Amino acid sequence: MKTFFRLVKLAWPLKWGMVLATLVGFLTVSSAIGLMATSAWLISMAALQPSVAALGVAIVGVRFFGIARGVFRYLDRLISHEVTFRLLSRLRVWFYGAVEPLAPAILERYRSGDLLSRVVSDIDTLQNFYLRVLAPPLVAAVTGLGVWFLLGAFNPVFSLAFLGFYLLAGVGVPWLTHLLSKRLAARSVELRSDLNASMVDGIQGMAELVAFGQEDRQAARIEHLNRQLVRAQFRLGAINALQSTLGTLLMNLAAWTMLVLAIPLVRSGRFDPVYLALVVLAALASFEAVLPLGQAFQYLAISLAAADRMFEIVDKVPAVKTRPAPGPVPSEANGYSLEVKNLSFSYEPGQPDALHNLSFSLQPGQSIALVGESGAGKSTLANLLLRFWDYEKGEIRLNGRDLDTISPEDVRKIIGLVSQRTHLFNATIRENLAIANPNADQAALETACKQAQLHDFITGLPQGYATPVGEFGLALSGGERQRLSIARAILKNAPILVLDEPTANLDRQNEQLVMQALQNLMKDRSTILITHRLVDLEGFEEILVLRAGHVVERGDQSQLLQEQGLFNRLWQLQAATV
Ligand code: ADP
Repeated sequence: MKTFFRLVKLAWPLKWGMVLATLVGFLTVSSAIGLMATSAWLISMAALQPSVAALGVAIVGVRFFGIARGVFRYLDRLISHEVTFRLLSRLRVWFYGAVEPLAPAILERYRSGDLLSRVVSDIDTLQNFYLRVLAPPLVAAVTGLGVWFLLGAFNPVFSLAFLGFYLLAGVGVPWLTHLLSKRLAARSVELRSDLNASMVDGIQGMAELVAFGQEDRQAARIEHLNRQLVRAQFRLGAINALQSTLGTLLMNLAAWTMLVLAIPLVRSGRFDPVYLALVVLAALASFEAVLPLGQAFQYLAISLAAADRMFEIVDKVPAVKTRPAPGPVPSEANGYSLEVKNLSFSYEPGQPDALHNLSFSLQPGQSIALVGESGAGKSTLANLLLRFWDYEKGEIRLNGRDLDTISPEDVRKIIGLVSQRTHLFNATIRENLAIANPNADQAALETACKQAQLHDFITGLPQGYATPVGEFGLALSGGERQRLSIARAILKNAPILVLDEPTANLDRQNEQLVMQALQNLMKDRSTILITHRLVDLEGFEEILVLRAGHVVERGDQSQLLQEQGLFNRLWQLQAATV
């Protein structure tokens, strides 16, 4: 019920559109009833051969209702679809807005196919919520009331009998449908999402699946899900068929009952036979309003299941919260300084610290390096500095101000990241560069690419800066992608840089090109280099050596080499493998 009201609340700004659509929906059904009733009366009356003048009003009525029915049906479709599409676009924007602050810490837990399915198909499913769930019961209620009065005007017995059948078809059958399809509907939404997620996984990992000969297993998994989904949909279809059969049966029974009740009244002279057909056909026509209700309840179940999945994500609390603090980040004349004091962090409560009691300070223009084996906690520091996750124990201060009092957006303007996983959009090189600074002109792009050692490569391509990079930038090599990421950082021009394994997975030649690009990038900026490769570290003011989240050694390169500790061992190991 809570989900239902939350959905109604989301649709509330479009209430007047919905009221109008409901009104037009009601007018459509009323015209159908009017057409049936006046035609029935006209034919019955005509059989008595009165003067044409006596039939005049009814003839006009038939014409009017006949045309009105078509016009209202058209308007009904037009308005209700307009309202629905507006609602969908609102929902999509709202959902995206709610999801964005969850990236990346919370979204990491969801499969990308699952998220895609929530954004696309679950929201699409909700179009039924208004179109087939909210409006039809209202139209049915108003129509029922109108016909109740109309029949009551002839004889209360008619209206009572009508009401019985109308309620059975409008409440009983839908309720039965609801009970039968509640679980199935939720299951079909779940299965569809699983299927989507497996498809996306399968397509993204196609190369691996083929390489390991596992494509048949993936295909079998998809086929299994597909079969289950088809089965669920078949059952839903069967329930749907049942409800529509019951609805039609009740409609015809209502018409038949009207006849059974009316004929004795006609015989005994208590009911004018000219109205006999009118009563029967008006009752029959009014069922047009209740027949969609069975399906409405089925759609209600599906909509609620889809909405639950949507709200589940929206209700997640972002991993980072900003404590309100007055004013912008204090700027210093000569740049930004960063102070980290006794910082400890673990990803899940109870897990061992990924970082333990880390302290260092970074003055404007300085560079420090964080080295250690894989899993030592190096990237965790990058996650905290960029406010992808919140820290609780210890302090991080930017120009003296606690980092958690600065909004993530502001932090990321000051601290730039070159990560080991650069996401490139399936667009041109120019567009991929422009996300770092949409206002940069061609000259700025070229300057950045020259510094990033990328310009010559780009101009050598037939389409130059307009070259598409392919899905995930797969048309570029690892080194080129990395240099593009450095060019982005140059364009972004953040005063503090976090370089997270910028040369990971590169061969020596590419590593050198990227290191050159990095030297250009690091000029006039403060840098934190995170790396497990101990190359080009002479110029760094301080090197922190991490192991299992703890700083085990610190100093500059020559001090660390003398210490004969972990740094020295890693250094020797690396020298032996090169
Ligand atoms: P490094 O960058 O030095 O390779 P990380 O900072 O990535 O190391 O990881 C440090 C520890 O934190 C590891 O034990 C890793 O398993 C854990 N870890 C990293 N990211 C997450 C995450 N998103 N959720 C839970 N644990 C994580």
